[in-house]
Amino acid sequence: MKLKLILLLFLLIITGIRCTKSDESINNYHKIIAQTDAIYDDLVKVRRDLHIHPEIAKQEKRTSKIVADYLRNLGLEVQTNIGGNGVVGILKGGKKGRNIAWRADMDAIKTDEPDVVSFSSKNEGVRHICGHDVHTTIALGIANVLSQQKENLKGTVYFIFQPAEETFTGAKDMINDGLFDIIHPDEVYGLHIGPEASGVINVKANELFAYQKTLKVKFEPNANEKELENFMHTVLKGFVRNIEQKGSPWNIIHKISDSKIGVTNKETIFKDYFILQGARLHTDKGVTFYNASFLETNLKRVNNVPLEIKKQILDSKFKDSFISIEYAKDYSGTPLNDPELTKIASQTISVFYNKEMFTPLYGQVPYFGEDFIYYQQKVPGVFFFLGGSNVKKGITSMPHTPNFAVDETTIKYGVQSFASLLLERANSK
Ligand SMILES: [Zn+2]
Repeated sequence: MKLKLILLLFLLIITGIRCTKSDESINNYHKIIAQTDAIYDDLVKVRRDLHIHPEIAKQEKRTSKIVADYLRNLGLEVQTNIGGNGVVGILKGGKKGRNIAWRADMDAIKTDEPDVVSFSSKNEGVRHICGHDVHTTIALGIANVLSQQKENLKGTVYFIFQPAEETFTGAKDMINDGLFDIIHPDEVYGLHIGPEASGVINVKANELFAYQKTLKVKFEPNANEKELENFMHTVLKGFVRNIEQKGSPWNIIHKISDSKIGVTNKETIFKDYFILQGARLHTDKGVTFYNASFLETNLKRVNNVPLEIKKQILDSKFKDSFISIEYAKDYSGTPLNDPELTKIASQTISVFYNKEMFTPLYGQVPYFGEDFIYYQQKVPGVFFFLGGSNVKKGITSMPHTPNFAVDETTIKYGVQSFASLLLERANSK
């Protein structure tokens, strides 16, 4: 009887602690919603200002100054010029806890496509067509809200504002410039605007995108180049599986968000595939080059492709003219989401957030690249998609497409849900 009583008391205490924690989390979430609502109009102003003044990779001077000033005004410790125009903001909580990093990218893109919004780019030929202005604004919003939650925050939240994502160099440059001497995160998170409806969050464990690779094959000058080109095309086409590309990449891209075959459906066609993007043979300074670029979902296969192609060449009549085969330098990569943290983040956000707005992804998204992987090679982390489309308003937020635009309400959703996630992770044991 006594033992039963002790067990009962123990259970009550455990349940009691759980309830209190969950109540505290939900209280914090409600505070975060109210605080986000209060700064939303200002965040839209910040976003539009960044959109009107876009800066390409390695030229993000104005943007990084705006970011640094904003963070200083919030009372954060700020360091600038890391790996170029990189900025780091450090928010220390009132109590000891864990260290969590949030990364946003700041650069825009050269494009002659006209801007589709009324607050269009004033920088001719440059436009935020990938949504990094929205990423930067959401990160500033999270910093703002969490700085108001300082008394509830245990541990430290780091904000990484990265330059030059589009050139796939900014993350590396910040890391090589001592980023991880300045910050010591236990986990790292980030997001990209995706084509789903405004506020919809998508995530999956492990690879989010397909691997994009470019192969370089060298031959001695061959008398019959046409024959060699045909042979190599046939070899490469032999790898194509599951998604046969017909026409331009856009024929495939618009299917990504299809409810039946897109990446939000378990039955998606975007899993376990090889897409041949392009291939070309040319001769330069007495050497014949065959270059081919492709998308492959499986890392083992990626590593095997050059070996298999080499074997086929050496078994062919072109074996004597073969010189070498190798991958070109990487200008693309896929986030590799830590499975355990993905699970925890999904559960954490689902508790607060409208469940319908939080949907898992299946398969791997083609034609996307991200240098977020360089942070994940140092620290486990998770990279999310945050939808920005709004069919009723005619807004489609597929990055890098000519009509790209973002429903700004997603700024609110992004700040609310991810500020809550970071607070929970920093405060977790
Ligand atoms: Zn981007």
